[in-house]
Amino acid sequence: MPQAEVTAPAGASVADGRWLRVKQRLRAELGEDIFASWFARLDLDSITLGTVRMSVPTRFLKSWLQSHYAERVLATWQSEDETIKQIDIVVRSPVIRPAIAKARVAEQPAATGERRSATTTAPTAASGDAPTGSPLDPRFVFENFLVGRANTLAHAAAKQVAQARRQDAVLFNPLYIHSGVGLGKTHLLQAIAWAISAQDRKVLYLTAEKFMYGFVSALKTQTALAFKEALRGIDVLIIDDLQFLQGKSTQVEFGHTLNALVDSGRQVIVAADRPPSDLESLDDRLRSRLAGGLVVEMGALSEEIRLEILKNRVNLARTHHPGFDVPAPILTFIAETVTHNGRDLDGALNRLLAHSKLTGGPVTMDIAELAVRDLIRPQDMKRVKIEDIQRTVARHFNVSRSDMLSSRRTANVVRPRQIAMYLAKTLTLRSLPEIGRRFGGRDHTTVLHAVRKIESLADRDRTLAEEIEILKRMLVE
Ligand code: ADP
Ligand code: MG
Repeated sequence: MPQAEVTAPAGASVADGRWLRVKQRLRAELGEDIFASWFARLDLDSITLGTVRMSVPTRFLKSWLQSHYAERVLATWQSEDETIKQIDIVVRSPVIRPAIAKARVAEQPAATGERRSATTTAPTAASGDAPTGSPLDPRFVFENFLVGRANTLAHAAAKQVAQARRQDAVLFNPLYIHSGVGLGKTHLLQAIAWAISAQDRKVLYLTAEKFMYGFVSALKTQTALAFKEALRGIDVLIIDDLQFLQGKSTQVEFGHTLNALVDSGRQVIVAADRPPSDLESLDDRLRSRLAGGLVVEMGALSEEIRLEILKNRVNLARTHHPGFDVPAPILTFIAETVTHNGRDLDGALNRLLAHSKLTGGPVTMDIAELAVRDLIRPQDMKRVKIEDIQRTVARHFNVSRSDMLSSRRTANVVRPRQIAMYLAKTLTLRSLPEIGRRFGGRDHTTVLHAVRKIESLADRDRTLAEEIEILKRMLVE
């Protein structure tokens, strides 16, 4: 990872003890996810005259911490040591980055001219797509992206990347955004692509599939070298749905491209439906490289956001179909019932729109109920907790929860444990390593094994399949 760790805080071991406690406290108070996103790379530099100096590797982290957590961090320090009066967060100089950044700035005047002529393929608002990339949806711009608790971090990071100028040092690389389906990854990625294509930077947005086929067909026509060169000649590479990247040779090629771009200070942005650690088909080095930048998760959309998205969509639709209107109570009804994801919200509205266009009649509650009937999902992923799964499964199989989490390997606990892990993977958005931790500190490969085992057993064994179905019902209803 290019941003080599600059550790070795200057403080004495007493300070280290306090620092450890401050970190522990922040972790406990803010939760693992927030801590990992924002505090994991915060180092202690020095404590002098009541001022604690800490450092982070990027300007983005610095400004985020200052604007969101400065008071909290100070208060936490003060609870450890009341002589502390202020904190100071600075950007530590990365070891490798400046050389690249300087080189890039130095080459700027000469390079700009060349690049401009080569950028003519960048998407423009008029053409609606990127000739060399995957097509961009004109609705997927920042203006239409609504920010709520579930996506604040991802949105902030995306904005930052979109607004960076070419001569700026890259702040976090790669930027890796993950979430369940329909929660706005593609929207956010394309918003970045639209924003950057309006500047002088050259951006390429590709789905993993397009990347794959591009590479495969380049190989066939023996233009693979040109393809690689073209890829490496861009400023920002955006790859969507990385979980679909299949095949050893494309993965190797993707790895090379990623390394080449990141190492030369070009921005790479990736989206997938799971965290890097769960991309089982990728090799370890590639996974850790992907995890080495900023990894942000987007959560389920809150009801408020869902309502806002609906309102926004109705307004957009009205520009083409002025007669279309959906009364507020109906929008609220849809936001309350279609809880699963943004794509289903779109689906529901499209049905209402179709009705309105075809019949010319008003949208009534009856019609709305019909439109959303099959979009209501029985399960709401976020609500099921791993503890509930463990408790329910333990009770169902008449074993104790502590036995299930223990290292015992007798058949009567092994199977319930595997079923519980399987349910944890399918009913929650937790990653394999996280599930492993919650099951008595097991390795993620153990969880993966359990998931596969249960899948294959349930394929052959109807009784087991039904039993699992019943457990799911108990958990989600
Ligand atoms: P993903 O790529 O994560 O599967 P998409 O980006 O395709 O999800 O989003 C699905 C639909 O939901 C799109 O129509 C998108 O515009 C909408 N959507 C999701 N999140 C938001 C949001 N925060 N603001 C506005 N629209 C959203
Ligand atoms: Mg998508």
